[in-house]
Amino acid sequence: MQRLSVLFPTPLGCFDYLSADSLPAGTFVHAPFGHKSALGVVWNTQPDESFPIEKLKKINDIENLKPLPEETIKFVNWVSAYTLAPLGAVLKMTLCSELGKESKKPIQFEQPNPTFSRILFSTAQQEAIDSLLEASEDGFNVSLLDGVTGSGKTEVYFEILAKIFQSGGQVLVLLPEITLTGAWLSRFEKRFGVQPAVWHSNLTPKQRRDTWNAVHTGSAQIVVGARSALFLPFQNLKLIVVDEEHDSSFKQEDGVLYQARDMAIVRAKIADCPIILASATPSIETYCNTLTGKYNHIILPERFAGATLPTTVLADMRQKEKGPIRFISKQLETHLKQNLEDGNQSLLFLNRRGYAPLMLCRGCGKRLKCKHCSAWLVEHKTKKCLMCHHCGYTKAVPKTCAKCGQSDCFVSCGPGVERILEETNMLFPTARTALITSDTLTNLKEFNTVLTKMENHEIDILIGTQILAKGHHFADLTLVGIIDADMGLSGGDLRAGERTFQLLQQVMGRAGRGQKKGTAIIQTFAPENMIIQALKNNDRQLFLSEEMKSRQLLKLPPFGRLAAFIISGKQQIRVEQAARIIVQKAPFSTQIDVLGPVPAPIPYLRNKHRYRILVKTAKETNLQSLLKQWMKQVNIPTGVDVRLDIDPYSFF
Ligand code: ADP
Ligand code: ZN
Repeated sequence: MQRLSVLFPTPLGCFDYLSADSLPAGTFVHAPFGHKSALGVVWNTQPDESFPIEKLKKINDIENLKPLPEETIKFVNWVSAYTLAPLGAVLKMTLCSELGKESKKPIQFEQPNPTFSRILFSTAQQEAIDSLLEASEDGFNVSLLDGVTGSGKTEVYFEILAKIFQSGGQVLVLLPEITLTGAWLSRFEKRFGVQPAVWHSNLTPKQRRDTWNAVHTGSAQIVVGARSALFLPFQNLKLIVVDEEHDSSFKQEDGVLYQARDMAIVRAKIADCPIILASATPSIETYCNTLTGKYNHIILPERFAGATLPTTVLADMRQKEKGPIRFISKQLETHLKQNLEDGNQSLLFLNRRGYAPLMLCRGCGKRLKCKHCSAWLVEHKTKKCLMCHHCGYTKAVPKTCAKCGQSDCFVSCGPGVERILEETNMLFPTARTALITSDTLTNLKEFNTVLTKMENHEIDILIGTQILAKGHHFADLTLVGIIDADMGLSGGDLRAGERTFQLLQQVMGRAGRGQKKGTAIIQTFAPENMIIQALKNNDRQLFLSEEMKSRQLLKLPPFGRLAAFIISGKQQIRVEQAARIIVQKAPFSTQIDVLGPVPAPIPYLRNKHRYRILVKTAKETNLQSLLKQWMKQVNIPTGVDVRLDIDPYSFF
């Protein structure tokens, strides 16, 4: 009898068992777990012998499935050690709920054809391709493919994919979930003649099962997916591409908290294969790594075929205009009018769903709040309701004010995209307008209809949220209006400025992607703000160097390390107490700064009270071992949940 330890996809860790045969790590087995038999994975073939052998149970049987690859095991161990999430919780992400099942007629993933269709590259593109091809010979290394939207980054990395398809091996392309739409897939198909395997949260059980099996057996050569695709059991991974690497949606914010771009680099290292990060607006972290020479920096300097970047105009909203309150300034209105007369398309951008972010009583000033969160309810006119954007709670607009008893007294405050649409329709009654937000996305058919109409120039003015920032290419779109550029700039979020810059730069980049010259109008109350200036002058260098300077000064990432504790629970007293205990037990060291506990910026969310503690250390500090030691000293009271977020991206 052999002793071995088995890991189950639960947060409980490994358990030792006995087996008649020696089984390699990665073998799928069924073993007694609680009162039933559960599927687990042989994790450690030589566990320590501390647990008395006579008390060990035998495994029940072996699942008839190829073992989990060694690289996947290494990756799970690594991610768990880094994020401090339980091993089994990370293992769970690599498995598929349909494990072991096979479809009667599984989906066949065809081999991409590297020479299916080819294009002629510009000199700059060819140089980028050559550098990337050279780097792809070197085993693990990281390249930043850096070029403005439309410079041809996708076409360039497709060439590196083609090379892998030729020589054999698997490729993983990670995209932010919202870019993972038809546009990318049809481009892939146009280039390689087949559909790639796709991995995201909305697959059917059959798609999930067939895709997982195809990756696990190695028959799928290309997987394009959202962050979770990183955990698939690749057999022969030869290249990873992370497109839009700066996108903050790569950070998973529930379950295991991990940064998929960072973990993709680890995954590539384990596979000893190259990784390409592509972006028009690289993250500060990535950019710094190119400066120190840790990453290759491959630059595509211009838009393909000489299409130029838009001219940018600031509309200073401090200069009060006479007449009724408008969200579209005279300046923007004039440009829209001209653009309409010229027969071109326009885009108005505001990153806020709904009609108005707040409603209040005209009589007594009462504001309508969510009953589960400390947040205002957002007015949605199309859905005819008020909605909490944090928990999804909805209710009708009350007829009378609960505080002062007046009726029909609630007024809308501030704009959401629906309100911008209404104003646009009022200003340009003959223009063909449409709205697109993530609310539209719930109906994929409608979403695609609007995009097609926009492509066919059956829409003159399109209004939308960040869902419009990427991917789409509208040849006649020449004017972009940013309704509120200041919106994302404030708040206690270290990346607020960075995110605003990236998002607005991308939205502005939608203008003039075809043959015609584009214009972007930025409405702002803070025209002298560094980020607004950098946008106006299309001066990325200004933004990058200022942002790096201030992060260096404050020892913020990537010049220092951060971790956050989020403490939550139903009873405020207990939550606060737990937060205080954690801070009391903080290791006394000059290496670390402990900030807090403080009530979180959203102190009440989904019926729970929340406190936060932020931990800051030098870059060299081993944050994980410090946190592990620390947490050993702490007894968390019942009814309180403590989450540790390494490298936090959200601070609410
Ligand atoms: P990015 O990924 O940098 O935004 P894309 O790869 O999407 O840029 O290229 C922008 C547009 O230009 C796409 O429609 C693409 O097909 C086209 N394009 C890029 N390079 C070429 C080329 N060498 N020949 C023909 N079309 C190209
Ligand atoms: Zn709520």
